[in-house]
Amino acid sequence: MTTHNLLLLPGDGIGPEVLEETRRVLGWYSANRNLSFATQEELVGGVSYEKHGAPATDAMIRKAQNVDAVLFGAVGGPKWDKLPFQSKPEQGLLRLRKDLGLFANLRPALCFEALKDASSLKPEIVSGLDILIVRELTGGVYFGLPKETTVLPGGEKRAVDTQVYTTGEIERIARVAFELARLRSGRVASAEKSNVMVTGVLWREVVTRVHGAEFPDVQLSHILADNCAMQLVRNPKQFDVIVTDNLFGDVLSDEAAQLTGSIGMLPSASIGAKDANGRQRALYEPIHGSAPDIAGKGLANPIAAILSFAMCLRYSLGRGEDAALLDRAVERVLAEGYRTGDIMQPGMTKVGTAAMTDVILKVLDKLAS
Ligand code: NAD
Repeated sequence: MTTHNLLLLPGDGIGPEVLEETRRVLGWYSANRNLSFATQEELVGGVSYEKHGAPATDAMIRKAQNVDAVLFGAVGGPKWDKLPFQSKPEQGLLRLRKDLGLFANLRPALCFEALKDASSLKPEIVSGLDILIVRELTGGVYFGLPKETTVLPGGEKRAVDTQVYTTGEIERIARVAFELARLRSGRVASAEKSNVMVTGVLWREVVTRVHGAEFPDVQLSHILADNCAMQLVRNPKQFDVIVTDNLFGDVLSDEAAQLTGSIGMLPSASIGAKDANGRQRALYEPIHGSAPDIAGKGLANPIAAILSFAMCLRYSLGRGEDAALLDRAVERVLAEGYRTGDIMQPGMTKVGTAAMTDVILKVLDKLAS
């Protein structure tokens, strides 16, 4: 049996609470599904700053670079809000993304049938929704240079960010999207602003070329990012995979997340390039933050973290069936009416963090027997 090496980075706030539940699910898989894990744990974010004076240490980064996957909780909190920029907890996550070369961020927006009424959109618009946003994560306007604020003669200030993409950066993210589309319903929509931005023109050109040369079996459409934002609330089910740049992806993936109700439900994956052995660095995390308002109270919804482990099973460990089993268990638990506070609805059974995992584990037992 292969042993899968995982690094757990619980972080701050509710991060450790939800990762503890992930650990219990991991335990279930090693006891019941012929999977073997070797786990290590490290500090990241505010807790790392407290102990080491930095939100990420070289030793932690080295460990992250040498495992099959990283499971991340959340970082941040009011205690560290006033730290200088480079010491802030969130820099720990940014450093991990950069040092591990995690250029592709995958965010599914999946509406569980039992939660279709929790969306701010009409149930018929979101019922059955299952889209995947593939966001370029290490390029574009967040990283382009120059990035500066200068003072003009006369005292006015001028700030510049630079949107920059190379052919290679677009090719590799396009390939990720097309490959994932092949595992789904085979459709990719590529979103950019080729009407007003030269990076958008290059984006469209490169995505079209990669598609024609390598993925003619996948259906490709192009959409302007502003229209994409509008279509996501008008008729989101028209989409399957959406591929887009860092800035538009940041906005569109948050918008898509909101379609499905709670932030406590949504997982994400960040993946890097394949090495010579086909191994791909990857980090899995819930999309929510450290939720200081509910931290330490046993109220956090663990489902986003648990579904992040399902993504890890699917994308890093090649265990698609085991991932689907976990997805089904979550679906069943919701259908049976169990809810944490963030997704509570009238007439349902309110449970805390650990009790939600208890019922998920019970359903896993039933589904697996
Ligand atoms: P947040 O996601 O932590 O919380 C937003 C709201 O959603 C809060 O009311 C919170 O209680 C609720 N919530 C979040 N996750 C939940 C869960 N699993 N179950 C139930 N309710 C949940 O966002 P925020 O309040 O803007 O940020 C808090 C801190 O987290 C900040 O320091 C921020 O920088 C950090 N943050 C970190 C990450 C990350 O680690 N990837 C992401 C976003 C924000």
